[in-house]
Amino acid sequence: MKRDKIAAEEGRQKAPGKWFREGMSLQEFFRQFPNDEAAERWFVDQRWGGNVACPKCGIMGDRIAAVANRKPQPYRCKDCRKYFSVKTASLMHNSQLGCQTWLLALYLLCTNLKGVSSMRLHRELDITQKAAWHLSHRIRKAMEQGGFSFDGPVEADETYIGGKRKNMHQWQRDQLEGRGASGKIAVAGIKDRKSNLVAVQMVHSTDRKTLHKFIEENVKIGAMVYTDESRSYLGLKRNQHKSVKHSMGQFVEGLAHTNGIESHWSMFKRGYHGTYHKMSMKHLPRYISEFSRRHNDRVLDTMAQMKAVARNMGDRRLPREQLMSGPPAWPQGEKEAA
Ligand SMILES: [Zn+2]
Repeated sequence: MKRDKIAAEEGRQKAPGKWFREGMSLQEFFRQFPNDEAAERWFVDQRWGGNVACPKCGIMGDRIAAVANRKPQPYRCKDCRKYFSVKTASLMHNSQLGCQTWLLALYLLCTNLKGVSSMRLHRELDITQKAAWHLSHRIRKAMEQGGFSFDGPVEADETYIGGKRKNMHQWQRDQLEGRGASGKIAVAGIKDRKSNLVAVQMVHSTDRKTLHKFIEENVKIGAMVYTDESRSYLGLKRNQHKSVKHSMGQFVEGLAHTNGIESHWSMFKRGYHGTYHKMSMKHLPRYISEFSRRHNDRVLDTMAQMKAVARNMGDRRLPREQLMSGPPAWPQGEKEAA
């Protein structure tokens, strides 16, 4: 095929599905990152771009000293006298896992379209399943995105995830009180047709107020919104609106369809059923971030995908205690930007 030939001539490796982007094989990964030192240098570059800054006081330049024997840490701040490493005050804070292990997990989560279970990470990375589980949730945390302002036209739709109400903890049932769809968890999504990006978040309810707010937060005023016939979308004040009546057997009427966001739901559900089997409500926002990020970055080269996530790892934390303790953090002000 001509495209393959062009890619081959330019020395690029053909990535599945997207001939123009550069993938990375596992072989290539280990050539580039043969050990913890190489991976650590890469993380340092992503976090500080060659200008190491103290995570405690922010000072940089010649106020930062490299510690010759790296003990107790590779860097020391001459101002606040604290020792630190690339892991300090980041999602890797206090992690005993090597930087190469972190980077390999990041690579696997960026490149596996249906996700990677903690069981598989445990086997591939030679770490306990418990460590793999915590590691993968911290990477998902770095996959969060937000602040969308879509030009439209957009497709808006909602879906339901999760198990039966009787299998839930009381606090989960409390959160779901009065909700439809047999107690499943509602997830709202918008896909912008122009940029092909998606914004997805877990929502308390699929009532008009909630869904209108979600659209207002992510879509520019005046943009066209296509939805199904759900009454919740009626009366959008700031946007134009057209809906399609699925119940009338009317699936695609010109541009008024929601096929784009629905295909995102189907990928998410393939991951849910095929890889994760269950996602607790407590952790669902992070799984949402994972699938949305992979969707939104799918046209990037593999290395660019990894960099984008790694640059989101600094100055945020997700300690194990916080992951374990319920009930779930509904994202600030109900909003989990995904
Ligand atoms: Zn300092």
